[in-house]
Amino acid sequence: MTLIFSGNDFKYELEGVMKLFIPAKLFSHEFTDRYVKVEGDAAFFRRRKGKRYTLLYVYVTLGSKTCYRVARIQNAESDYENECELTLSRLLFSVMSELTGKQAKWGIITGIRPVKRVNKMLSNDMTKDQIYDIMRNRYLCDNNKIDIAYKTAKTQSEILSDLDNKSFSLYVSIPFCPTRCSYCSFVSQSIEGCLNLIPEYVDNLCREIEYTAEIVKRLGLVLDTVYFGGGTPTTLEADMLDKLMKTIAGSFDLSNLREYTVEAGRADTITCEKLKVLKKNGCNRISINPQTLNDSVLERIGRKHTAEQFLDSYKLAKSIGFESVNTDIIAGLPTDTLDSFKNTVDKLIQLEPENITVHTLSIKRAARLNQEENDEVFDNPASKMVDYATKRLLENGYLPYYLYRQKNMLDNLENIGWCKPNKESLYNIYIMEEVQTILAVGAGGSTKLVDLKNDRIERIFNYKFPLEYNKHFDLMIKKKDEIEGFYSE
Ligand code: SF4
Repeated sequence: MTLIFSGNDFKYELEGVMKLFIPAKLFSHEFTDRYVKVEGDAAFFRRRKGKRYTLLYVYVTLGSKTCYRVARIQNAESDYENECELTLSRLLFSVMSELTGKQAKWGIITGIRPVKRVNKMLSNDMTKDQIYDIMRNRYLCDNNKIDIAYKTAKTQSEILSDLDNKSFSLYVSIPFCPTRCSYCSFVSQSIEGCLNLIPEYVDNLCREIEYTAEIVKRLGLVLDTVYFGGGTPTTLEADMLDKLMKTIAGSFDLSNLREYTVEAGRADTITCEKLKVLKKNGCNRISINPQTLNDSVLERIGRKHTAEQFLDSYKLAKSIGFESVNTDIIAGLPTDTLDSFKNTVDKLIQLEPENITVHTLSIKRAARLNQEENDEVFDNPASKMVDYATKRLLENGYLPYYLYRQKNMLDNLENIGWCKPNKESLYNIYIMEEVQTILAVGAGGSTKLVDLKNDRIERIFNYKFPLEYNKHFDLMIKKKDEIEGFYSE
């Protein structure tokens, strides 16, 4: 597909809209200031500025079909460039909906944080009707998606109104897993191949924690939440987890800490001893993720545990007294059916975990799983699965509290974190809405510095893989000094 831009260069946004309808295609681009006759699979986006009005035009040929739309806006329109871009996006959306018969339920919103828009409108004191009107008519969102984005923003509103510019969260990266799941796209390594790296990795991580804590003390920042992610942090042995958590407790002031999460992720890493170490060191929230409660699907995706192992781990965690347990599931896994997914959702709801996170498989991951079966990916019940989960979770008193989309998700869907009332994970909201500084330690960690007052965000990236993290540790840790630079500006 060739994308031809005439009188405009809205490449990023228009390509994003096109990808809603023709996933994972490679596009070529041409730029011209002329009118072009379109031949073959191509899209032509034209902006022609007259004396008072600008004419916007989208023409697409796809296979044997063609379709076009035209609109006109005033040159005096405030925020003229943005209006041109949005109008062309809407025209393209309409053309592609007609040509492909596909529905893209988030309309022309292609970014990963649709709730951020709603939060902004709420903070500008817009009414519910005004917000729905903008989401529907300006961004062409489907009513169900607007509902979920609005409900999510409302669940977040109290937490967001209570934020201090000096508070921060600490992210601890443990990029190891017992084995690699076939759909994984994280920076995570199977421990089989890197067992010998782990002791040095844990030592370096402790040094990075201490170094970061010194910076925090000098800046007077206040630790709000701790989050161990990865990977699967509970891949580490109990004594290593103990050492890391004790280093955190010995380095930071935890007296204002409101949440301490450790992703225990996979049931095949969980033992009573490890859970007790987490609890003893102040962790009050863990994730135990079945992804599905269908054993044959678990086997298909390379998770080396059964549904029963998940249930045993869950009961163990509850018996040890964790206040909040999250369980992740994925809609659209290969070989999973709508009925089997419904069974997973219903069984999980019966357990009444405080959080249930419903992910949708991304096409990229699915495609890697299914190199030879790409059609299966596009003919998938994921959308019905997500609708079912949404309906059942709402019926059972769960509230959506964070929501994000990834590029290339099946059916242009989303991931939604659901919680029992007042059981939101603060960290998940902070990271998704970009409202609090996250100081990350460990390989693959990315520190996000947020200055809400001045609307500034900066990032510092650690080395991605444990091997280079260990090897270049002394060089890398110097980058942490940029944190002080950010706060002194
Ligand atoms: S548990 Fe998560 S991080 Fe680990 S391999 Fe599986 S998907 Fe990747």
